[in-house]
Amino acid sequence: MKQKIITLKAQEIPRQWFNILAEIKMNPPLGPDGKPIGPDSLAPVFPMNLIEQEMSTERWIDIPEEILEVYSIWRPTPMIRAFNLEKVLNTPAKIYLKNESVSPPGSHKPNTAVAQAYYNKVFGIKKLVTETGAGQWGSALSFACNQFGLECEVYMVRVSFEQKPYRKIMMLSWGGKCYSSPSNRTNAGRTVLEKHPDTPGSLGLAISEAIETAVTDTSGTTRYSLGSVLNHVMLHQTIIGLEAKKQLEKVGDFPDVIIGCAGGGSNFAGLSYPFIYDKINGKQIEIYPVEPVACPTLTKAPFVYDHGDEAKYTPLLPMHSLGHAFIPPPIHAGGLRYHGIAPTLSQLINDGLVTPKAITQLDAYEAGVLFARTEGIIPAPETNHALACLVDEAKKAGEERKEKVILVNFSGHGLMDMGSYEKYFAGELTNFTLPEEEIAKSEQVYKDYPKPELVKNFNQSTV
Ligand SMILES: *Cc1c(COP(=O)(O)O)cnc(C)c1O
Repeated sequence: MKQKIITLKAQEIPRQWFNILAEIKMNPPLGPDGKPIGPDSLAPVFPMNLIEQEMSTERWIDIPEEILEVYSIWRPTPMIRAFNLEKVLNTPAKIYLKNESVSPPGSHKPNTAVAQAYYNKVFGIKKLVTETGAGQWGSALSFACNQFGLECEVYMVRVSFEQKPYRKIMMLSWGGKCYSSPSNRTNAGRTVLEKHPDTPGSLGLAISEAIETAVTDTSGTTRYSLGSVLNHVMLHQTIIGLEAKKQLEKVGDFPDVIIGCAGGGSNFAGLSYPFIYDKINGKQIEIYPVEPVACPTLTKAPFVYDHGDEAKYTPLLPMHSLGHAFIPPPIHAGGLRYHGIAPTLSQLINDGLVTPKAITQLDAYEAGVLFARTEGIIPAPETNHALACLVDEAKKAGEERKEKVILVNFSGHGLMDMGSYEKYFAGELTNFTLPEEEIAKSEQVYKDYPKPELVKNFNQSTV
């Protein structure tokens, strides 16, 4: 029998995370005075042990035993060799998927949620506040807080709150609280509700509500938590790629192509950053972050300094951004609707180490349904974008007659997303391309901000 599932034993789990900041130089985040921020300015928002991690340039960071213990509920995750999909696509490529959908909340997100809950707990924090787009992050943090005995409060983007009511019930099941954003609970929420009572909400605005709630809590034991974008989040996710490397070694393969969908960039980073280390050191690998054409941060937005949230509470981050006030069209991949992208991923794009791709909504669902009908697992709408890129790459390998090894992050399952599949089967989903005028308009918000330098880390001809 062919080996379909490649597993690791419990004791083979990686015991360190990989830090990409050991490999690349970046523009610093800036404070309101336009100067690089120090650790103290973040202290009301995050615990100091996570701020230290955010700024660390150590290549390897030990994973505490308590975190490994919670990881052991679902990690190491299996790797799937997609024989059936290969056959249907008639491709010479070998397709491997790292299956992050097997975690209790159903995605990669608890890899960092568990770590963040742990470090907050150790620092003496009692409650975490956060936002969520499609509900994946809110449920992951509720799960993680529950494991470590912390309270959890979540602001969920209104359009998802209405489309996906059962994500909220998951949060309640793990003891979390969930509010529709914009809400009347914060200044940021009330200001937007006054002007636009019917707004679908945005991740940028929900972040503002969560930060405001955390920093105005007078107990001193509440902090904010972010599910993507920041350096420490990318770091925690690298367990995915480090496991994948060991699994591929077991079958004697190494990837020629790596694919992950990108909202804030964390599942993509988790799979690909450990391999970027190899690419910098001479390996030939094509690495593709994939986004929806409806929210084209990677493929269309310029590299600028912008805030991570609508109300401008965060420092200025060096990133590709559509503008912090951007309200994305309500496509069904809620987790891919963020206006910005991780600064580390932005830098890797500038360095030419990764090549962004954009996929339409209908191509994404077509690939997702093909995957469900060949490999059996129904993917999350976000994951469908990575799968559509996979289908393109597998076909390309066929045209080139090359036996390429393609590695994909299967970031989550779609069992909580049946509403969007229902619309797809009813023919009610459409493609939406963001008009260039819209992009130009929403980018006005940062035109007076300082501009990041074009830091170059590598000589292109050597990569
Ligand atoms: C949240 C989410 C994403 C997008 O977030 P990243 O930080 O870019 O990984 C992708 N897939 C799934 C299943 C998600 O839940």
